Amino acid sequence: MSGQESESDTTQNEIERTDREYVFGTWSFQSEVSPTQVIHTDGVTFTDASGNEYIDFSGQLMCSNLGHSAERITEAVSEQINETAYVAPGFTTEARAKLGKKLAEITPGDLSKTFFSTSGTEAVEAAIKIARFYTGKQKIISRYRSYHGATYGSISVTGDPRRLAAEPGIPGTIKAPDPYAYGSTLDPMQSLEYIEEMLKLEGDTVAAVLVEPIVGSNGILVPPDEYLPRLKEIAHEHGALLICDEVMSGFGRTGEWFGCDLFDVEPDIMTMAKGLTGAYQPLGATVVNSEIAEYFEDNMFCHGHTYSGHPAAVAAGLAAVETYQSENLIDQARKTGEYLGTRLDDLAKDHPSVGDTRGVGLFRGIELTKNSEKRVPFGTREDKVSKGSTVVDEVASKAYANGVYVANMINTLIIAPPLTITDTEIDDAVAALDNALEVSDIAMEEGLME
Ligand code: PLP
Repeated sequence: MSGQESESDTTQNEIERTDREYVFGTWSFQSEVSPTQVIHTDGVTFTDASGNEYIDFSGQLMCSNLGHSAERITEAVSEQINETAYVAPGFTTEARAKLGKKLAEITPGDLSKTFFSTSGTEAVEAAIKIARFYTGKQKIISRYRSYHGATYGSISVTGDPRRLAAEPGIPGTIKAPDPYAYGSTLDPMQSLEYIEEMLKLEGDTVAAVLVEPIVGSNGILVPPDEYLPRLKEIAHEHGALLICDEVMSGFGRTGEWFGCDLFDVEPDIMTMAKGLTGAYQPLGATVVNSEIAEYFEDNMFCHGHTYSGHPAAVAAGLAAVETYQSENLIDQARKTGEYLGTRLDDLAKDHPSVGDTRGVGLFRGIELTKNSEKRVPFGTREDKVSKGSTVVDEVASKAYANGVYVANMINTLIIAPPLTITDTEIDDAVAALDNALEVSDIAMEEGLME
């Protein structure tokens, strides 16, 4: 390690110190990275090397939808590796064919053919290329409060501050406002009119409008019911496709298979990853409708990776989808999600620094504010690209000290536990959050006294 060791480094075990020295921490100033070694995961919990157990209230990165003990998946993966560890994408395996068919069955309407990759960002890259090939047009409209991945195409269509380091990014990407009822000056449906105006002004040059049906890392933004259906109409009126990025909102997270099912909308292209395997293997998927699939019968599908449809990954995907189905987890998430919603609303009543609680199913956000009347966020969005922890980071740290892991992005705590979580586990996690939110209440009071 170069330079001086920080105080936290000296308390790290040897594995953590080695990792700290030789491995990059993601999205971080490396001087602030301090990895914790996890030695065991079980159900909705994980255990660190010091023996502390935590409730995983965000399903790691909103991806461990099936909890950490889905034996059907671990067995399917190990059987697959023992049988056929790897074959090139020009060959196939039983799991790949069956998972392709399953995805056609569980996705809405006519979505029917899948390209497999290994992550959400690759799924989005493929969607951008497919939309461009199919329409012969180049521009992609996406929204400011969005995250679509870290590789160049995906970060270019991402709106949140993480895009700034990669700008100007790929050509032909345009950002639009979002349906953010709590914090935007635009009403959600006005933001849609803005997109309509953009489509008019861009002429016939837009290949696709790309949205997360429920915005994830940028604050769990649920649009009004009429938003997504109207967005599809507007896009089609202007010859653009609708791409729904379901990487975070898919696979039961919202109490439906996919976020767009909440609005009865069938996108032209859908991207998925995370819950597709419940994070047991890295797998991304880009699913297109039959018309787009048909186009590539006689036009080259100019895309692919060494690990497209990797046998172990698709075996995990197939076993995961079978687990959602056989354990009825989508319905369960809808019911448990309602309970979670009421418990988070209780927190809002008790804590003045909770500006808004929102979400659907087991996909919820707690937005913290320093002034609830004026809805002033704790720190600006740009704080996340400067050094130092924000009040929201400190609330998350306190929750962690209380035995609950919760992801936080910008000024929102993101609650997205495994769909297997019970009401009792929710109560335990909410109690820890209740205590942690005193940190932001105090910060708010101090701010008001200034
Ligand atoms: N799209 C959405 C909506 C996401 O939330 C994410 C990751 O959080 C991605 C794409 C990128 O996925 P990955 O990190 O697997 O590349």
